[in-house]
Amino acid sequence: MELVTLQDVSKTYAGPDGGVLALRDISLSIWSGEFMAIVGPSGSGKSSLLHILGGMMTPTTGRVVIGNVEVFRLSQDALADFRRNHLGFVFQQHHLIPYLTALENVLLPLAVDRNHSNGRSRADRALAALERVGLRQRAHHLPDQLSGGEQGRVAIARAIVNDPHLILADEPTGSLDSATGGAILEVFAELNRQGHTIVVVTHSPRTAEIAQRVITMQDGAIHSERGNP
Ligand code: ADP
Ligand code: MG
Repeated sequence: MELVTLQDVSKTYAGPDGGVLALRDISLSIWSGEFMAIVGPSGSGKSSLLHILGGMMTPTTGRVVIGNVEVFRLSQDALADFRRNHLGFVFQQHHLIPYLTALENVLLPLAVDRNHSNGRSRADRALAALERVGLRQRAHHLPDQLSGGEQGRVAIARAIVNDPHLILADEPTGSLDSATGGAILEVFAELNRQGHTIVVVTHSPRTAEIAQRVITMQDGAIHSERGNP
């Protein structure tokens, strides 16, 4: 089943000398349950593509459909709800709040969830998310009491606490040594086995063995693709 459709998506950033064409007419389908990796040189448009996929940045042209929702037709409030309920994001700089514990960082997305019930079940859900990334026993540690790999896991736990179907990660292994980065990819692989659809920008050497499909970007376009969805 097709989960995400990008049709003729382009992105131009305004600039002093006319603007930067970061994405050129990208069309792409992502299947439900797929584990897709995006690779390519710096500046090739990987982050721009991921931000558009996640409804965080409007494309200059083209459309994005997730499920049966045309994402950029939603109002701002509806888009924010959609993102919170259906998408999870993980970034390279894990963006953990330094004075909050691992558990409190994971609770954040639930704190802004207007539709959600009482405090007790929120804490249970946050602990369950930490459990899924193997960090239940570090719940009450502050970020600087955790290793880089553990901070990455907290960021993943925060991304999955709403149980999103689609998880997007932009170089979550980028600041980690290759063994720790490989272990983070394993966490995504496990989430994929549990049914989450994964799109990850990564240069981890383990990408080829873990992802089902690898897309290589170059100059704002999909240069090549291998693997079977
Ligand atoms: P990657 O993630 O592959 O390094 P990006 O999507 O970040 O690529 O960037 C693609 C191109 O768009 C680059 O040339 C980059 O300099 C440019 N770019 C990215 N973000 C902005 C921005 N906010 N304003 C202007 N140019 C940008
Ligand atoms: Mg990038």
